[in-house]
Order: sequence, then structure tokens, then C-alpha cells
Amino acid sequence: MSDDSRGCVFCGIVAGAIPSNKAYEDEEILAFYDINPQAPVHILIIPKAHIEEIADGDSALAGKCLAVAATLARELKLAQGFRIVANHGPAAGQTVPHLHFHLLAGRQLELTMG
Ligand code: 5GP
Ligand code: ZN
Repeated sequence: MSDDSRGCVFCGIVAGAIPSNKAYEDEEILAFYDINPQAPVHILIIPKAHIEEIADGDSALAGKCLAVAATLARELKLAQGFRIVANHGPAAGQTVPHLHFHLLAGRQLELTMG
């Protein structure tokens, strides 16, 4: 884990130092409800490791995050539809520099790509 994990809010959640409402957990992945939900269902899916940018060796882990999102969508019966979003960098509005995927559902989501 890189030194950048120090002071990272999501690493704090993984470590249990910051409480969270968990939706899924295994050895590599944690999913928890967003503290400031933008939709009735708003879950963040993260690798437990402090990854800032997906590198070649991270493809399995990134894919597993998406598989967890799809499993949660099935479990939560989001058959009406859901959206998975990953923001990267300030121009995309990223505020936490630890790779994460937003799972959004439960309302009509705007037909926009940003
Ligand atoms: P970003 O804008 O970086 O794509 O998304 C970061 C997300 O993390 C935001 O939606 C924000 O509400 C959420 N967030 C930030 N701090 C915390 C926290 O301490 N707990 C939880 N559950 N979510 C957080
Ligand atoms: Zn981190």
C-alpha cells in the first residue's frame, strides 16, 4: 500500500477507523453506502488496496468491483435500472483519490454523460 493511503478517507473506512454502512465485503473489495447519497440507492464499491489509478495489473480487481456492483444490483432488485460511475481527477469531480465505483439507482437518472 502506498504512503498516499495515509489520510485517505476510504483507507480509513477499510481499516475500520471511520464507520460505514457496509453492503458487501470480501478480502479484496468493500462496498458501503455513500454518506451523501445522490439517489435512493448510492453505494461505493472500492478495492481495499489504495489504488489511485488502474494499472495493467489491476484489471482483475477492477473487474471484480464491477461484478460486485452487478451482484448488489441483483440483490437489491434494481431491475428498473442502475448506473455505475467512476470519476477520475478534478475535472470529473473526484474528491477521494482512491479508486471507487458509484452504484446509483432508485430514481430516474438523467440521460447525460456529463
Ligand atoms: P467522488 O466525487 O470522489 O467520485 O466520490 C467520493 C464519494 O465519497 C462522494 O460521493 C462522497 O459523498 C463519499 N464520501 C466521502 N467521504 C465519505 C465517508 O466518510 N463515508 C462515506 N460513506 N462516503 C463518503
Ligand atoms: Zn485509500
